[in-house]
Amino acid sequence: MSTSYDNERRDQLAANLAAVHDRIDRACTAAGRDRHDVTLIAVTKFFPAADVEHLAALGVTDMGENRDQEAAAKVAELPEDVRGALTVHFIGQLQSNKAAHVARYADVVQSIDRAKIAGALDKAAAAQDRTLDALVQVDLSGATGRGGVAPQDARALADRVAGCAALRLRGVMAVAPLDADPAEAFARLADVADVIRGDHPEATWLSAGMSGDLEQAVAAGATHLRVGSAILGSRPAAR
Ligand SMILES: *Cc1c(COP(=O)(O)O)cnc(C)c1O
Repeated sequence: MSTSYDNERRDQLAANLAAVHDRIDRACTAAGRDRHDVTLIAVTKFFPAADVEHLAALGVTDMGENRDQEAAAKVAELPEDVRGALTVHFIGQLQSNKAAHVARYADVVQSIDRAKIAGALDKAAAAQDRTLDALVQVDLSGATGRGGVAPQDARALADRVAGCAALRLRGVMAVAPLDADPAEAFARLADVADVIRGDHPEATWLSAGMSGDLEQAVAAGATHLRVGSAILGSRPAAR
């Protein structure tokens, strides 16, 4: 069912992906880090399941989505073998009434920012005999706002997640604030991650870095990069 449009899109994604891999390689070299310690998550929000299939064929192992309805439909559209080979990360803000639904298809939930969400995910995952990898989202903006627990409250929330039988605490996630130096923000995130790892040695993941700041994230020790537009192209303006 391959059309010339498919081929064009595949070639474009391949070129973008190669450029991103090149940036990650350089950033790892500059930081003296092993490239194998950094996982690239392609953030496919706003883009169709066909793009996910292209990316999977190009070697992408992890996809990220931030809206429940879109994510659920897209994952359901993937052929079984493609879905089976992918790790699906939910990276968007969650309401507790959506958490149960996300627990059906996500493998990793990166955006746990309060105890209520942890409880709802745990209950839903347990009911489906699933275990989810879980990250605590930390708010680095300083202003209490959209998404993320305040850094000083992250440790207690991590304890709560670690105490959930159907969640596996893996570490922390954050988005760099728009108006701040990402290097400085990611350094603060790394400090929070260190404290949590002291309590929970298995919590080794640090999800940080997007299209615009992946180099700073690698320098700060990121293990997971969430890259959208640099791979897929620019999205329609956020609603
Ligand atoms: C959209 C999104 C990304 C990817 O952003 P790009 O700048 O397109 O790379 C990463 N993380 C989260 C939480 C997002 O919502």
